[in-house]
Amino acid sequence: MPQVAIPAMTSTGQPVLILKEGSSETKGREALRNNIEVAKIITDLVRTSLGPRGMDKMLVDSLGDVTITNDGATILKELDVQHPTAKLLVEIAKATDAEVGDGTTTSVVLSGELISGAQELIEKGVHPTVVVDGYRKASKRAMEILNGIAIKVSPTDREWLRKVALTAMASKVVSSVAPKLADIAIDAVLQVAEKRDGGYKVDIDSIKVEKKPGGAITDTLFVKGIVIDKEVVHGGMPKKVENAKIALINAPLEIEKPEFDTKINVTDPAQMKAFLDEEARILREMVQKIKATGANVVFCQKGIDDLAQHYLAKEGILAVRRVKMSDMEKLAKATGGRVVTTLDDLTPNDLGYAALVEERKIEEDKWVFVEGCKDPKAVTILVRGGSQRIVDEAERSIHDALMVVKDVVESPAVVGGGGAPEAETAYQLRQWAQTLSGREQLAVLAYANALERIPLTLAENAGMNPLDAKTELAKAHSEGRRWAGVDPFESKVVDMDAKNVYEPLSVKLQVVKAATEAASMVLRIDDIIAASKVKE
Ligand code: ADP
Repeated sequence: MPQVAIPAMTSTGQPVLILKEGSSETKGREALRNNIEVAKIITDLVRTSLGPRGMDKMLVDSLGDVTITNDGATILKELDVQHPTAKLLVEIAKATDAEVGDGTTTSVVLSGELISGAQELIEKGVHPTVVVDGYRKASKRAMEILNGIAIKVSPTDREWLRKVALTAMASKVVSSVAPKLADIAIDAVLQVAEKRDGGYKVDIDSIKVEKKPGGAITDTLFVKGIVIDKEVVHGGMPKKVENAKIALINAPLEIEKPEFDTKINVTDPAQMKAFLDEEARILREMVQKIKATGANVVFCQKGIDDLAQHYLAKEGILAVRRVKMSDMEKLAKATGGRVVTTLDDLTPNDLGYAALVEERKIEEDKWVFVEGCKDPKAVTILVRGGSQRIVDEAERSIHDALMVVKDVVESPAVVGGGGAPEAETAYQLRQWAQTLSGREQLAVLAYANALERIPLTLAENAGMNPLDAKTELAKAHSEGRRWAGVDPFESKVVDMDAKNVYEPLSVKLQVVKAATEAASMVLRIDDIIAASKVKE
């Protein structure tokens, strides 16, 4: 049932919406003003967490679980916002997270600043549509500038990849172990990267990140293969198989029950025995089929009958049952095997290979490690750390590192960090604005100011005087120091190339795109029509 309005047509075929009784409507400037205020509140919430010296937020969910983080995407994901504009901004942050995996806080801060900047112009009498058009032009130009200043790198150059990974992890709790985690992330991404269209494509889902509290973060492991959080199914099976030939089976190693209840009347014990013998024969045949292919390890997505387990154990085959479908796919990618859906299809060609399959004890659990695969296209990172909270934060750091490394491997260009590219783009936009006239010029200047707020926010969060930082940055960029940005650790303006602080170009392009889209969307709304509450 439509809750907001009942659609109808006029005689000319024009759709009209007739509001349902009880719906509320906020119109025109009042709607815009409300939206602008909400956008500012969301921005203010994440602003103080921007950058490596940003503050952490303690998030408590409705069950009382606590997350401490300064990761913009996590903060926004956990927020249970009600207002539609707030939801919109949260969506944009999530989209940025999904697209490039970094720059979420920056994109929210930038869209908030763009919206505040627009508010000033609108109050001066510039129509919102004119502001939006000006912003769109400015963003297009900003992307051209960013492309122009970016440094082109080799997609497999580990030195560059390490620089961007370390920058992405700088703001997280676990920054002291960042170099080790960065190397693991680089190993993982380069391992699964596949050549395509003259470049590389990285499927981040091929990198399985498993976490287990216990040990130290430095115990975090890169496994050239897959770790399955399941144990070997039968006590009599080997716990370790070298030179493993792996069957991946997506069918039950059981006798399937009929779909509806059936009754078999057994009248004498011989019949009963024949019945059981037949069952055993079928199961033994299944195991023989597997054995005949040369397999010595089985991963089964479904169940394995007790008797089948027994036969497998007798043949010295290591088996794991009820493996998740996503893990089966990763096992296939890692071992080069093929997942078969019926046992009859299984041939020696379908078997995967791993140098070692072994069950190991991880704290109180037993997990199966499939490692030493030949050029695996799926790998695992096993995250360790002193507590659940540390493991969670380490996982978020690794996620960020994986994403920025993927970004550079796929689009091999980088820009400086510390708000340098934003400051440089603002500087060049202001010069370009001189060639424009009237209201358009005002919108482009407002865009430049909003961009400049990124380094200034980094400065503020590091306890610097934003006015001093602004003057220093403007001077540096006018002197051609394109990578002059804010070093939050030393609380001063420095050249980011000297500090080795770099970010993927694609993150900055996405930030500009997402923030402009979000701001434009909010600024173009002049009517909020809310459905009346559905009576319970
Ligand atoms: P986001 O969610 O937008 O990535 P972060 O809180 O991770 O937000 O902060 C990213 C900002 O911090 C970027 O502008 C980045 O250049 C900057 N940054 C990260 N590390 C450093 C550093 N060591 N020195 C200066 N700036 C840094």
